[in-house]
Amino acid sequence: MPKDLDRWRRAGKIGGAARDLGAGMIREGASRRDVAEEVEKYIRSQGGQPAFPVNLSINDEAAHFTPDPEDMRRFAVGDVVKVDVGAHLDGAISDTAATVEVGATKYASLVAATRSAVEAAERELRAGVETMTLSRAIERTIHALGFKPVENLTGHTIESYLLHAGKSVPNVTGMSTARLEPGEVVAIEPFATNGAGRIGNGAFGNIMRFREPPSAKKFPELSELFGRFRTLPFCARWVPEPELRSALLKARKRLQTYPVFVEEGHGWVSQAERTFLVVEGGCELLTP
Ligand code: MN
Ligand code: MN
Repeated sequence: MPKDLDRWRRAGKIGGAARDLGAGMIREGASRRDVAEEVEKYIRSQGGQPAFPVNLSINDEAAHFTPDPEDMRRFAVGDVVKVDVGAHLDGAISDTAATVEVGATKYASLVAATRSAVEAAERELRAGVETMTLSRAIERTIHALGFKPVENLTGHTIESYLLHAGKSVPNVTGMSTARLEPGEVVAIEPFATNGAGRIGNGAFGNIMRFREPPSAKKFPELSELFGRFRTLPFCARWVPEPELRSALLKARKRLQTYPVFVEEGHGWVSQAERTFLVVEGGCELLTP
């Protein structure tokens, strides 16, 4: 059991409310950048910090897109938008996502498939469960609705300051197996698609992180930014100073940059994600 369970519960509540705030703002004509900024502002207003820049990935993008400061895109009718939010309180992290189809219902069953898959996994989730059991529940639910799970994206355990802590919860069976222990925190995150069922790397998605501290002598601006973000993911929107922002853009190659995950068959993708605490005989939903 995390010693500071109360902090994990509060981080979960903030993450869940931030996700719902973002999902509610995703409508025709809303600016993608404004939605990201409002969601992150809400997390900070609650005393938390974003654990990563809000992901707003659209259509065949599965994950890892965040708007840059100049992003002018507005949501259009028919867009299938994944809003994926992380909030942390002194390192206690929640990770949660929802999918919104803007102004249409053509992909309602694709959106429902991942929501139902999380619920199917939740019913199996308890101390001692093999992750394979959860994968089977996810896979079956998505197949039953006529879609494919995305096989190379997985759920994951979470530890303090560590979003991907070691154990994976694949969205298909036969990938890997581990048992979940009481007190572990786990994010379950099925992705479903009408495409190939795999993602590949697309273009740079505006999320980056430092691999190591930059030299303060050679790169004073980068060194200042390292002081703010350490090795956690961040984005240019979080750097208001023009001189630091331009130093960052020039130094992109010195940092780890995250590509957008794009569906290999260019199918449309939905995602649902919830963070749970594993307990004897069941689980507690941390991101209601
Ligand atoms: Mn996750
Ligand atoms: Mn997530």
